[in-house]
Amino acid sequence: MAVYRGPVCRLCRREHEKLFLKGDRCFTEKCAIERRNVVPGQHGMLRRRQASEYGTQLREKQKTKRSYGVLEKQFRGYFEEAAHAKGVTGENLLQLLEMRLDNVVYRMGFAPNRNLSRQLVRHGHFRVNGRKASIPSIRLKVGDVVEVMDNSRSLAAIQAALAGASRRSEVEWVSVDKVKFAGRVLAQPARTQIPTPVNEQLIVELYSK
Ligand code: SF4
Repeated sequence: MAVYRGPVCRLCRREHEKLFLKGDRCFTEKCAIERRNVVPGQHGMLRRRQASEYGTQLREKQKTKRSYGVLEKQFRGYFEEAAHAKGVTGENLLQLLEMRLDNVVYRMGFAPNRNLSRQLVRHGHFRVNGRKASIPSIRLKVGDVVEVMDNSRSLAAIQAALAGASRRSEVEWVSVDKVKFAGRVLAQPARTQIPTPVNEQLIVELYSK
């Protein structure tokens, strides 16, 4: 599956906003947004024209895609599914993104960011309901249990992520037992329980044109 492999701080600078793509570094003064919050590229320092309506909607979509590490085709697929489901399309879209295995692993604190979470999942460090799961986009359901594989519990990346988990946003729709290296999905998150700073309505407007 295609993934973005370029410098991730550049993505934050493009959006003029912290997308928390690097984990603990995002909370320090080394963060590129703290040091140099200008659009990347030769003309990044120039004053930008006010964004058009379309431009604002597009940026919101890009920001959301980048936050969750999803590329356009898959993101569009999530949107179509959200639009056909019952309820509010924007909220449905965020719920679909939140219930991905890589995101849940991140939310449970087993990885410091979604990029590393995806990598850890692909390398087979987790099981879901007792079975090994190595596809980051697997959609979890309420009641599903995610565990770190026995042999992976001593991994420095997972240990460090758990140690710093409280610095990142913890969500109430998952429970985590750090001693057992396991977590459970307690509920489908409501919009108020999703701490992703995006205006999903702008994405709905963009795709509805
Ligand atoms: Fe974004 Fe984190 Fe890089 Fe800061 S350190 S620019 S929040 S990825």
